[in-house]
Amino acid sequence: MAKKANYRKIHSNSYYEPEELAKCVDLTVQTIYAHIPRGLPADMSKKPYNIYGRNAKEYFRRLYDNKIQKEHRDEIICNCCGKVFDITLSDAEAIFTGRFYNPKKAQIRVFGHCPFCPCKFSRFKSTTAIKGMIPGARIPIANITTRGE
Ligand SMILES: [Zn+2]
Repeated sequence: MAKKANYRKIHSNSYYEPEELAKCVDLTVQTIYAHIPRGLPADMSKKPYNIYGRNAKEYFRRLYDNKIQKEHRDEIICNCCGKVFDITLSDAEAIFTGRFYNPKKAQIRVFGHCPFCPCKFSRFKSTTAIKGMIPGARIPIANITTRGE
């Protein structure tokens, strides 16, 4: 998959069959099919598959911008599949590392599994990243374990 999709030509509000999308972005239809298990969202309930332009555009944008894209403080970008998820909603654990960025901002290590693929992730974040955690989230701030406790 060395060749990049010319995804800027995709119309956000159009639906594409794989063949049409291939033509639009200047790739082979085989390449389009190869992207589907890697995260290109497609309605596979009937053939030919149906791909929503906005989803395809977003998928390719994320795929190619991965290296320069910066995670928001409360996000994880999976190194495997490139999908972005909210750490407060993922099945993650957080551990206080014992370090502080400043007196009010502790460093935590957040780790767990990507919700979209089998890969694991591990990131250093600050406590401010998880402050807005919704009630019922898997890692409420009170549950952050302190090393040595
Ligand atoms: Zn993943």
